[in-house]
Amino acid sequence: MLNTMKRFIALVDCNNFYVSCERLFSPSYIDKPVVVLSNNDGCVISRSNEAKLLGIPMGAPYFKFQALCKRHKIIAHSSNFELYGDISRRVMATLEAFVPSIEIYSIDEAFIDLTGIADPLAFCVMLRGKVMLWTGIPVSIGLSYTKTLAKAAGEVAKKSENGVFGLLHEEDINLTLQALNINKVWGIGNQWGMKLELKFGIRTAYDLKLASATFIRKHFSVVIERIIYELKGLSCLELEEIETKKSISSTRTFGRSVSELSELREAIASYTANAARKLRRQNSKAYGIYIYIRTDRFRDTTQHNKGKLIELTYPTSDTGALISAAIKGLEAIYKRGFQYKKAGVVLLDIVRENYLQRDITEEYNVERGLRSAALMEAVDELNKKFGKRLVQHAAEGVKKEWKVKADLLSPRYTTRWDELINVY
Ligand SMILES: [Mg+2]
Repeated sequence: MLNTMKRFIALVDCNNFYVSCERLFSPSYIDKPVVVLSNNDGCVISRSNEAKLLGIPMGAPYFKFQALCKRHKIIAHSSNFELYGDISRRVMATLEAFVPSIEIYSIDEAFIDLTGIADPLAFCVMLRGKVMLWTGIPVSIGLSYTKTLAKAAGEVAKKSENGVFGLLHEEDINLTLQALNINKVWGIGNQWGMKLELKFGIRTAYDLKLASATFIRKHFSVVIERIIYELKGLSCLELEEIETKKSISSTRTFGRSVSELSELREAIASYTANAARKLRRQNSKAYGIYIYIRTDRFRDTTQHNKGKLIELTYPTSDTGALISAAIKGLEAIYKRGFQYKKAGVVLLDIVRENYLQRDITEEYNVERGLRSAALMEAVDELNKKFGKRLVQHAAEGVKKEWKVKADLLSPRYTTRWDELINVY
């Protein structure tokens, strides 16, 4: 039955998230026992594996364990949610750079839909590496056919060596579900778990999987009926997609192979302009732009697949500034002599405009920012009125001016009309 299933869903879960965030900025904490405390240093809300081994329970009141902490030199930290929120945003943006469909489930967990990806397990291994590389946060990933099974796989992944675990074969699924207490099944909880066990002798996830769905619906609810289907591998809980996009991508496969840098520049510039337009539509700005180019992987030639993340000093939705960064990224990864088939731009690390006040630094020139905003608004307005591409950046290549010089990318783009636009 499982062979016919097409959906692949994974749960990405940050390991000991708050502790991992603290470790990012204090590398000396690595391999040491660390705990993070709730507001007013009340309870332990995150523990490193070392702290778990020393017997600090989750939710433990700190004052009760203060002596133990002292004895074992356990490092205790007050919580810093501003930091955790920011790191969370970066982790999610990284996931979104690679996966189009994502549901952010909590500050440190997200479901991702990997349906259609040729080797989803290998993809998860890659993704885990990317999150580590881009954010420094270790995650575990559980892969299966439904959210409920992905969650169960995630529990195993957490304890596994490489942090990735796939529940993809019937026997593995059954063994895992047999070891999973009913109240630990995602969506069941203690109350229902107790009822199911006392009334019907359903003790494990596997027992529930074998239960009659119609019977359960009659005696419990349609919610638990759905969980049964989910345990059987039939996906019926959809990803609830997030409203404001946390990343925006614009990518295309070329009609023919492209090898010249000048052509790639035009493509990247036009994808960037496209993504920037979407970014402004949702009143956001981006801190980062990821560019990638790929050769044709179905052709039997040497491949060159490279991507580059350019981080901006301050967030922007200005087309000129984004194109300038994108081209810089492209030039860093471009290699002569390859036939490129695909290129893409991903805006990430996206923040709402009203989030920005806090981020204004000396590098951020307020006046220039305002002028840029007014200009972009005018450009969007004109394009809306007179057609999509009436006003566009020269870099997008109407007149193929790319060959001329990189001067076109100078910041004057945002202040000089005659350098910015191309009206035709
Ligand atoms: Mg976690």
